[in-house]
Amino acid sequence: MGTKKLNGTVIVTYRCNARCNMCSRFKAPTRPEEELSLETIKKLPPMYFTNITGGEPFIRTDLKDIVRELYKKSDRIVISTNGYFTDRILNLAEEFPEVGIRISIEGLQETNDEIRGLPNGFERGYSTLKKLVEMGHPDVGFGMTVQDRNAPDLVPLYKLSDELGMEFATASLHNSFYFVENKNVIHDRPMVAQNFEDLINELLKSKSPKKWFRAYFNHGLINYIYGQPRLLPCDMAFDTFFIDPYGDVVPCNGTKDKEVMGNLNEQTWDELWNSEQAERVRAKVRHCDRNCWMIGSVSPAMHKYIWKPATWVLRHKLKPGKKYDMHELKVVRDYEEGRVTREELDALSTCDLSSDPNDGLRRNAVSNHG
Ligand code: SF4
Repeated sequence: MGTKKLNGTVIVTYRCNARCNMCSRFKAPTRPEEELSLETIKKLPPMYFTNITGGEPFIRTDLKDIVRELYKKSDRIVISTNGYFTDRILNLAEEFPEVGIRISIEGLQETNDEIRGLPNGFERGYSTLKKLVEMGHPDVGFGMTVQDRNAPDLVPLYKLSDELGMEFATASLHNSFYFVENKNVIHDRPMVAQNFEDLINELLKSKSPKKWFRAYFNHGLINYIYGQPRLLPCDMAFDTFFIDPYGDVVPCNGTKDKEVMGNLNEQTWDELWNSEQAERVRAKVRHCDRNCWMIGSVSPAMHKYIWKPATWVLRHKLKPGKKYDMHELKVVRDYEEGRVTREELDALSTCDLSSDPNDGLRRNAVSNHG
């Protein structure tokens, strides 16, 4: 296990300046002094891909030092941000011209600012994006988390990203300790799915194979919001990991409670990764029924089981006329024809208002350590 390069996500802070309606992390931030140190980051294994995220990672004023350290062990780094700290972002992009920057924009101006709760959030995020493009930064993109409120902005925002020559990444609502949420659920599934269908057809029309595979990812999002089993297996914690601001290594950010494989402040990487505790978490992943569909767990699966998305892409590209129709998913037909009810689909989601969400903070995590 030791030498294989991994896919890692480094959550550098739980502090956040945004107030998103689908994420309560800002209510449960970390204290700066307890966040991942450079010493711990030096202990991470070789990675073929590293995502740096938060909270809002640019809140950390030592982010450049973190990136410099991570470049010693990672082939590619992408930072997810809300784009608010324009100067810090541009400054970092200047020093690291190959770093990927993904800015979350939750819709066109009014929708974004309402969802994100950041004054002038759209203006700030969009102007950061434009400035990165102007300075010729090669790897810039939008990220959007689709919910009922912003679904109609999906295709317009994709078109905007396309005009600017940017990547366009999508997600939908999830509940977990990471988001400190258990109330997220899509209410009007057919409406949201219709917007995804339109996006999928736009992506399939393009000449870019990367976009065709994104179409498959979005097809998986329709499947997810209808509460169906994942289209691809989940292999988190096998060649993929997350590390939180406390140095706790976890399989992913989708579990209800924080599932700790070990702590990198206290252990070496090899001790942690090969521990019995890590094996116990892997066994849980094998039986996990949360069926989440986030790029962090799907992208490695799409590479590993490439034949499945590739067959899907080929089948749809070769189709004459309208390439994609969400009714290819049986559950969409069943819902439309009344064979399954909204309540039944809600019950299949991870929305669960019966208890408070776990916030994954250290004071709550003690009992999870093996
Ligand atoms: S399905 Fe995979 S990514 Fe989602 S919570 Fe389970 S183990 Fe994590």
